[in-house]
Amino acid sequence: TSIITVKNLTKRYNKKEVLCISELNALHGRILGLIGPSGAGKSTLLRILNMLEEPTTGEVSYLQQPAPVSQTGKLQLRRKMTMVFQKAALLDTSVYNNVAFGLQARKVPKQEIRERVLAMLDDIGMLALSQQRAKTLSGGEAQRIAFARALVLQPEILFLDEPTANLDPPNVELLEGMIARLNQDHGTTILFVTHNLFQARRLCHDTAFFYQGKLIETRETEQLFTSS
Ligand code: ADP
Ligand code: ADP
Repeated sequence: TSIITVKNLTKRYNKKEVLCISELNALHGRILGLIGPSGAGKSTLLRILNMLEEPTTGEVSYLQQPAPVSQTGKLQLRRKMTMVFQKAALLDTSVYNNVAFGLQARKVPKQEIRERVLAMLDDIGMLALSQQRAKTLSGGEAQRIAFARALVLQPEILFLDEPTANLDPPNVELLEGMIARLNQDHGTTILFVTHNLFQARRLCHDTAFFYQGKLIETRETEQLFTSS
C-alpha cells in the first residue's frame, strides 16, 4: 500500500516551476531513493512531503488520506514523520538532551526516555559521550546524533536529505546500517535523497529519477542495474 501519494503536483518559486510530478508513490515498508543532479527539485519535494512547505498545485495524501488541514491533524501527522538533513543542526546542550528532546516533546515518561536514549547512544557507540556538549563533537559524531535523534522516535516515515554526503567511509557505513535496520525491524517507510547511485543500489528498494524539476521515472532499483 501507498504511504505517501503525490498527484499532479507542481511547485513554483517566483513563477519559475521547480517541481512537476504527475504521480509518485512511497510504498509501505520500502526505501525509495530520490536521485538526480543538483537543482532537480529533490529537496523541495522532501520539504513539501514533510509539510514544511505547501505545493503550488496538486495534492499529497498520507496513509491514503488527504493531507490534514486542521492544526491538530497536522501535528498528529508530523509526529509520525522525521527528517535528517545533510548537516546536523544540534541544540547547544548535551548529547543526551539532543537525543531526548523529541521524546520529551511527546511527553514520553522520563524512565522510558532514559532507556530509549541510552540504548540508542549505545547502538551508535556514543554512550560515553552522553554528557558532552553537542557543540564539541566532530562532524561524523554530530551526524550520528542527528540520526539518533530522529530514529529514537521510531517514526513511521523517515525523510533523509543526503545525510551521509559529508561523511567519511566508516560513518557512512554505520549510518547506512542504521537506515537498513530501522527499515527491516520497524518497517519504517524511508524517502532517501542521494546523488550516489551506488548508495541507492545498496539501500533503496525503488528509485525515482528527477531532472530539472521533473520526475522522469520510478523503478525497482535492481532493474536499473540489470536491464538496458
Ligand atoms: P535539489 O535538492 O535536487 O538539488 P532543490 O529542490 O534544492 O533541488 O532546488 C530545485 C530548484 O528550486 C533550484 O533551481 C533552486 O534554485 C530552486 N529553489 C529551491 N528553493 C527555493 C526558494 N526558497 N526560493 C526560490 N527558489 C528555490
Ligand atoms: P530534569 O533535569 O529535566 O528534571 P532529569 O534530570 O530527571 O530531568 O532527567 C533528564 C536528565 O537525565 C538529562 O538532562 C540527562 O542529563 C540526565 N541523564 C540521566 N541519566 C543519564 C545518563 N545515564 N547519561 C546521561 N545523562 C543522563
